[in-house]
Amino acid sequence: MIVNVTHTGRKAMYAWPSVVALNMPARGATVLLSPAKHCAPSPMETKRPTAEAAEEILGGYFPVLDHGFVALVDYMGTDQDIESAARVSYGAGTRRVSQTRGLVRYLQRHAHTTPSEMVEFKFHCSMPMFVARQWVRHRTASVNEYSARYSLLPLLFYEPEHAHFAHQSSVNNQGREADPAPVELHADAVGRWQELRQHAADTYGWLLAEDVARELARIDLPLSTYTQWYWKIDLHNLLHFLTLRVDDHAQWEIQEYGRVMAGMLARVAPIAYEAWLDYNVLGARLSHAERMALAKLLRVEDGGIGVRDGVSGLGRAELRELGLAPREIRELLAKIEAPDRPDFSLDLADMRSAEEMEEKMLAAVPEPERRTERQGVD
Ligand SMILES: Cc1cc2nc3c(=O)[nH]c(=O)nc-3n(C[C@H](O)[C@H](O)[C@H](O)COP(=O)(O)OP(=O)(O)OC[C@H]3O[C@@H](n4cnc5c(N)ncnc54)[C@H](O)[C@@H]3O)c2cc1C
Repeated sequence: MIVNVTHTGRKAMYAWPSVVALNMPARGATVLLSPAKHCAPSPMETKRPTAEAAEEILGGYFPVLDHGFVALVDYMGTDQDIESAARVSYGAGTRRVSQTRGLVRYLQRHAHTTPSEMVEFKFHCSMPMFVARQWVRHRTASVNEYSARYSLLPLLFYEPEHAHFAHQSSVNNQGREADPAPVELHADAVGRWQELRQHAADTYGWLLAEDVARELARIDLPLSTYTQWYWKIDLHNLLHFLTLRVDDHAQWEIQEYGRVMAGMLARVAPIAYEAWLDYNVLGARLSHAERMALAKLLRVEDGGIGVRDGVSGLGRAELRELGLAPREIRELLAKIEAPDRPDFSLDLADMRSAEEMEEKMLAAVPEPERRTERQGVD
């Protein structure tokens, strides 16, 4: 949907496609990167590989944080395409799921990654700018971000809920404590954020009303302001992104996006998703010193694992003797503890239509009344 915000603040709606309008920078025009619209399924049968579970959510918008979303707008390939690429096959004949699973897991274990580059995902996402800054560090994706030089930004700001509002972590300089800070402190912070954002929004509206260029009007909008983009990435690089961003070292807010996207991945390529969970999320790499520590306790025995005679455990001092630094010891202990299996499955009850998301975005776009007429400009 294209919205033309006129200088009187009236909104005129024109029909899709917005791509055309993006190329026509008419004065006073605002283009929202429209949520993807998926027409009613065509009666024509596709010859493309599809996954039923993915089709079910294609073009559906899943809310993230207070105003953000992720939508899977398109994908190319499924688990079978990883196998076809690995075998460079003609795609003829049917393979058993167990055969595909065995191969996909082998490829994932041994970092034979190029077959998974044959599967692609295209997302439409909206996130606060500080999340976008972390996200965009992943260079192996194609991005097209909403242009705040060309368009008016919806004035939506991220406000952390109390449950996720915490003091600085005392053990991790890059993170927050697990428990929330006092509720009164959160209320004070919300009050200050709202004041600051109102001021920023008013200034943005004032600058627009004075017909100052949008590329300048936007410069003091806070990092909590939501932006949006289309983001296309192949499976190999998506797995790398998700491994880093669903990890609890990543900021909780970007983890929230990672979790939803992992749920989408599970619907497109469930076998690759399972292998990623097993090897990348729940698996761990061992250093030489860590292997030596385990070798002091365990040995290979009759095709299985036996416990070495006379050893009951390894103390901190012995671990230090093997060359492990205090932090490495902490990390080894964390690796040995069996992790819980995360559940990234999507709740279809959360899914929203493109129209609903679009309406919310449009309602947040300011409608500045232009105050002064510049000479020579009508
Ligand atoms: C918890 C966490 C904390 C972080 N903290 C900071 C921080 O404080 N400051 C900061 O600046 N960043 C920080 N980052 C960002 C981080 O350093 C990486 O830039 C980001 O995670 C992207 O990783 P990547 O380069 O592997 O991914 P991508 O850019 O997607 O690249 C994928 C892979 O492609 C290859 N590749 C891509 N481009 C190149 C290249 N030019 N040369 C060689 N190989 C390439 C690499 O193998 C790379 O792993 C943090 C990331 C995380 C997850």
